[in-house]
Amino acid sequence: MKTTPVQILKDIFGYEHFRGPQSEIIDEVLAGRHCLVLMPTGGGKSLCYQIPSLLRPGVGIVVSPLIALMQDQVDALQELGVRASFLNSSLTPEAQRAVLRDLREGNLDLLYVAPERLNQEATIELLHSIPIALFAIDEAHCVSQWGHDFRVDYLQLSLLEQHFPEVPRIALTATADANTRAEIAERLGLVDARHFVSGFDRPNIQYRITQKQNPRQQLLRFLRREHENDAGIVYCLSRKKVDDTAAWLVEQGFTAVPYHAGLSAEQRQRNQQRFLREDSVIVVATIAFGMGIDKPDVRFIVHLDLPKSLEAYYQETGRAGRDGEPATAWMVYGLQDVIMLRQMMDASQGNEKFKRIERAKLDAMLGLCEITTCRRHALLHYFGESGPDFCGNCDACLNPVPTWDGTQAARKALSCVYRTGQRFGVNYLIDVLLGADSDKIFQNNHHQISTYGIGKELEGNAWRSVFRQLVARGFLSVDHATYGGLHLSEKARPLLKGEESIALRIDVQEPVVKPEKKSRSSTQIVADADRVLWEALRRCRKTLADENDVPPYVIFHDASLMDMVHYRPLTEQQFLGISGVGQSKLDKYGAAFLEVIRGHEA
Ligand code: ADP
Ligand code: ZN
Repeated sequence: MKTTPVQILKDIFGYEHFRGPQSEIIDEVLAGRHCLVLMPTGGGKSLCYQIPSLLRPGVGIVVSPLIALMQDQVDALQELGVRASFLNSSLTPEAQRAVLRDLREGNLDLLYVAPERLNQEATIELLHSIPIALFAIDEAHCVSQWGHDFRVDYLQLSLLEQHFPEVPRIALTATADANTRAEIAERLGLVDARHFVSGFDRPNIQYRITQKQNPRQQLLRFLRREHENDAGIVYCLSRKKVDDTAAWLVEQGFTAVPYHAGLSAEQRQRNQQRFLREDSVIVVATIAFGMGIDKPDVRFIVHLDLPKSLEAYYQETGRAGRDGEPATAWMVYGLQDVIMLRQMMDASQGNEKFKRIERAKLDAMLGLCEITTCRRHALLHYFGESGPDFCGNCDACLNPVPTWDGTQAARKALSCVYRTGQRFGVNYLIDVLLGADSDKIFQNNHHQISTYGIGKELEGNAWRSVFRQLVARGFLSVDHATYGGLHLSEKARPLLKGEESIALRIDVQEPVVKPEKKSRSSTQIVADADRVLWEALRRCRKTLADENDVPPYVIFHDASLMDMVHYRPLTEQQFLGISGVGQSKLDKYGAAFLEVIRGHEA
């Protein structure tokens, strides 16, 4: 009897059903046709080429730029009993020869190769001499010069079409707007191929953006309440802040490591390895960290500084929850972030057009921070997708944002900017509004202007909130030359003249997220009564991972452990019913986990 894709899904990968378009894509490739696949991170792209590679004669060749990941991917496949190897510069010549021998002798189902290796003449020649199941081009957006991860080596991949027109090519990516997609199709010869475009929503990620008050205490509360024992990434803008924050988290009892371009290559490698191999490690990082981090159980992404664009924000937060389990994207932001980024942009090199684009991107990012409606809706809308108005899993949906009529306050603030000559920063302006007793104000004769002391009905912090929103929404602009001085923009005129009103958000201290909602850490997902078993299973997984020198998630994902907690399998047959358990995993690890469960039940 012929083996079917769904049988392989069950027997080898241990899953019951295909997700979304997986089945259709696999059928397309099995029929020998090319295709282009766009799926969000965690959507399940790998199966789309792994299963056809197992079903078609010959070896599946997977091109990937992420050399650091190949080892883990191959380890994971070998754990499943799949004959997989990789070929890149990290292998010794001897190991390379062994892989090539396996390849020639037809002993491989899947081979991961770096693009520069594939482009070598010798490799092409070798591939001509053996049967090939398919070519999978992972991270296919790297072929696009407009994308942000362009790789010169990817350009050469057009040779696949010339050399192997009959072998199905499947290009996969998680990031591609219409332009990038067209470029991928063009370069890889997929213009006439079927394009499978999935939605970009990541429903398991809860988006939350909070006003910055005391960021460290806010972070601490967030971690303690929601992610006590979880792995996550904390992004900061500067190396110094990365170092300081990591050290501080360690003082607070967390396992945290820094990651930025100022560290030595070995140090970075070591810290990344700990993140991958140990449970519950927090990486504090600049944006240098993340590309190619395939860890499925990252439970939270924190931004202590504002990203420069929604593209960056979405990519960085997208590293959470690849396993489909609940995860949190949590950010604090404040007025200083806005001012600093605006200044950095103005001071940056580059022509006017470039700066204008950068500024527009920052404005979109600020827009997301200040909206009072569903964040997910706004994000998807920005990326050209429609979504429901109410997602139920972002802070705006969970805690509708209260607003107040800020028209009068905004007029006072704008008028104060105007009367003081449009060159002072926020702190000074607030002093004037509050009628403060300051030498600087007296020197400037600003105690005699009409806006001096007219803002006593609000406190300093409330004024700060007003200014932040006015800057973020484009009523005020930040000056580079005067170090953060504010001036009015054209948009402010109708508001100032009383022709327009404005609703401002009330900054709540720390929006309380309703507990029944999805942002729960993995430890919280498990009810207290099950905690003991859960921890025992995690220990068992860690021991096996260390013995086999692989990351814990290569043994089993959290979702599999959770299944074990829920169903308490006691026999091998029952164990096979656990999500993520196929024959190979049963043979290797069934006994160990069953013993833990039986011991717990006894
Ligand atoms: P991507 O490459 O699209 O980011 P992966 O291929 O790494 O995603 O898959 C993400 C996670 O989802 C992996 O843990 C994978 O094992 C799991 N997965 C993929 N397909 C299925 C499925 N049909 N059923 C259950 N889990 C799946
Ligand atoms: Zn929402």
